Amino acid sequence: MAGIEQVSGANLPLSTHIKLPNGVEYEQPLGLFINNEFVTGKASSAFEVTSPSSGKVICSVHEAQAADIDIAVDAAERAFEEGPWSKLPPAERGILLNKLADLFEENLTILASIESLDNGKAIQLARGDIAGCIGCFRYYAGWADKIHGKVMDVSSDTFCYTKQEPIGVCGQIIPWNFPLLMFAWKIGPAIACGNTVVMKPAEQTPLSALFVATLIKEAGFPPGVINIVSGFGRDAGNAIAYHMKIKKVAFTGSTMVGRTIMKAAAESNLKKVTLELGGKSPNIVFDDVDIDRAVEWINFGIFYNSGEVCSAGSRVYVQEGVYDKVVAAFKKRAEANIVGNPFDEKTFQGAQVSKVQYERILKYIEIGKGEGAKVETGGEPLDSDGYFIKPTILSNVKMDDRVMQEEIFGPVCTIAKFTDIDDVIKKGNGTNYGLASAVHTKSLNTAIEVSNRLKAGTVWVNCYNSFHAALPFGGYGESGIGRELGKEALKNYTQVKTVNINLA
Ligand code: ADP
Ligand code: MG
Repeated sequence: MAGIEQVSGANLPLSTHIKLPNGVEYEQPLGLFINNEFVTGKASSAFEVTSPSSGKVICSVHEAQAADIDIAVDAAERAFEEGPWSKLPPAERGILLNKLADLFEENLTILASIESLDNGKAIQLARGDIAGCIGCFRYYAGWADKIHGKVMDVSSDTFCYTKQEPIGVCGQIIPWNFPLLMFAWKIGPAIACGNTVVMKPAEQTPLSALFVATLIKEAGFPPGVINIVSGFGRDAGNAIAYHMKIKKVAFTGSTMVGRTIMKAAAESNLKKVTLELGGKSPNIVFDDVDIDRAVEWINFGIFYNSGEVCSAGSRVYVQEGVYDKVVAAFKKRAEANIVGNPFDEKTFQGAQVSKVQYERILKYIEIGKGEGAKVETGGEPLDSDGYFIKPTILSNVKMDDRVMQEEIFGPVCTIAKFTDIDDVIKKGNGTNYGLASAVHTKSLNTAIEVSNRLKAGTVWVNCYNSFHAALPFGGYGESGIGRELGKEALKNYTQVKTVNINLA
């Protein structure tokens, strides 16, 4: 299964002591977190967790299968229907989210270190992820007691109003590129709105969410409100997507699996679906820019988080007048990125998450070369046991080449020329995706016209990969359904009830 070894969980303890490469030591939970307790899976199965920077196994964690999902859903349903959660004033939900944020602050070093160990990302970026989680929890803590309906004046002998009610048990399936940040984006709005959750981390990166389970308990969340089940997509994930008692599923991951989730919802109980999927986002540079500044953002746009970002600016389009200069400056800038040991404070780009992913990226580079691409820089791995790939820029790529159309999800960027706004809009909008985009220019008119005409859920102007909890994020086209973050995300986790009172 995706290169991850399944092992027996029969003699596996519920936690283990881990000493991290930076000297940080902590107790790592290994069980499934259901009803505020760590338990083993019913099938006594487990799977190995690997460090991408060494290729070595860190530990194994207990595996949830369909029977365990049933138990977790029952716990979440009880908490929603009968538990203290069901009667908790909304403001108290905000207090709990703020407590969780406090605990993230206290444990920032451990949390960031676990992310670096398990995902392979650079520690400086992992710290940024944790800061993003804290910001997200605090933002949704603020919303908890500000979610309300309206009174509609329909006639003098009726009194009509709406309520924004929580949906119930939410299944949340998250990817491995931002294990905790995606956890926070999902938990924040779901909890603020009063739902309960069964969360499945990606099988590649289960460790940080399990550690957070201890913080959830410490923060004082009642049992069953947040359940965390490590397991494989095709088993535990599938059980969540098809579950008859899960009323809403939120998924972040590949477009292919997104289709499966939607089909599962249709074939089971028509649970509500939000999907945040892939992208192949255009990053557009006009010839009036300050080249060094623009290059800083195109470098960050593609190589941030080792290129494992759904919104990565993986198609760079440069206006013909500055094309050669931008290619030269970008190449120099990419070669200056420090790639290697994620625990080195100076590292910008760590390891790719897994051997499977590493090989997939290298294969795409070969496909690109076969299509006639010129490797401006990179194009090969680092000489190391871990899964490191040099920042790679491909030029001479045509619009319908696979490396221009398909999401590579690694440190590989295509760069191509354009003539004018019409030309770059056609190119920029020329994929089935529509997650993000960016335009770099000094002209306000150009920035606004291009922003208006790009078919994407986000347009960054003179920046890239700039997120904030208040700003909605999500996709046009095959990049997804619904928006995460901001006030928008509250819609995903509430349903409207209309009350119509006859006064006559
Ligand atoms: P990738 O291929 O990049 O690993 P995926 O979309 O496969 O991304 O994974 C994202 C999340 O979706 C993970 O938590 C994974 O376990 C889960 N997943 C994968 N396949 C399925 C499936 N058939 N049903 C439900 N969840 C799945
Ligand atoms: Mg791992």
